[in-house]
Amino acid sequence: MSKKNRIRIYVDADLYTGGIVVCSEAQAHYLLNVMRLQTGNDVYVFNGRDGEFKSVIAQCGKKQCALRVETLFKTFENSPDVWLLFAPLKKDQTDFVIAKAVELGVSEIIPVITEYTSTTKMRTDRLHTLAIEAAEQSRRQDVPLLREAAELNKILNDWPAERTLFYLDESGNSGSAAEIMPQFSAPAALLVGPEGGFSEKELEFLKNLPYTYGISLGKRILRAETAVVAGLSCWQALCGDWRYK
Ligand code: SAH
Repeated sequence: MSKKNRIRIYVDADLYTGGIVVCSEAQAHYLLNVMRLQTGNDVYVFNGRDGEFKSVIAQCGKKQCALRVETLFKTFENSPDVWLLFAPLKKDQTDFVIAKAVELGVSEIIPVITEYTSTTKMRTDRLHTLAIEAAEQSRRQDVPLLREAAELNKILNDWPAERTLFYLDESGNSGSAAEIMPQFSAPAALLVGPEGGFSEKELEFLKNLPYTYGISLGKRILRAETAVVAGLSCWQALCGDWRYK
């Protein structure tokens, strides 16, 4: 199998040469029935701390599969320290936001309830599975932490002051990403409002906190999910790991 389309799975187990990893039933189904692998085939495993290892299928049954861990393939590397705070959207858009945020390298995702947030229903366990799939596919070495949704006020009251919070401000009253973002190195966070936007009160509150900076993404109003992708791309290019090859 070429390095390009290597099959990767995220596991909880500690990883070291010679170790055995017992796959979950869903992983066994994926490896054996979907990817049609057999005993002796390669599978790459990562757990968010030990790096990525090449392993082989040592044993498999109808609904079970055990891997024998062989060699270290890539040493562990943390994702850039940027969090995404976004107001939950409709199911498909929320799924899109989670997958794209993982691909774009966020280290933590926090759903926030704002004044105009239209939906607060979120299945965090399902979204966690989605985040794992996106991490596997994008060759990340870790899966970002997905927190339970919380009120914006509560999150801001407990905010770690050293983390710069860039809020995407569609009002036209903030500076550009190119001008503001490079002034602050990580840790950082990006806050994107709901389809209804931020309320006047929220914008006033955000503006007056010591660690927040409003960012404009131009004159056009973007859908919230577009703003997530655009904002994170700006941050990666100006402050994150897109600055290097
Ligand atoms: N209903 C609002 C638009 C909300 S768009 C209106 O009509 O004005 C959803 C979110 O995406 C916004 O709260 C903001 O965080 C972000 N966003 C959209 N367009 C943006 C822009 N041009 N600049 C900065 N942020 C933007």
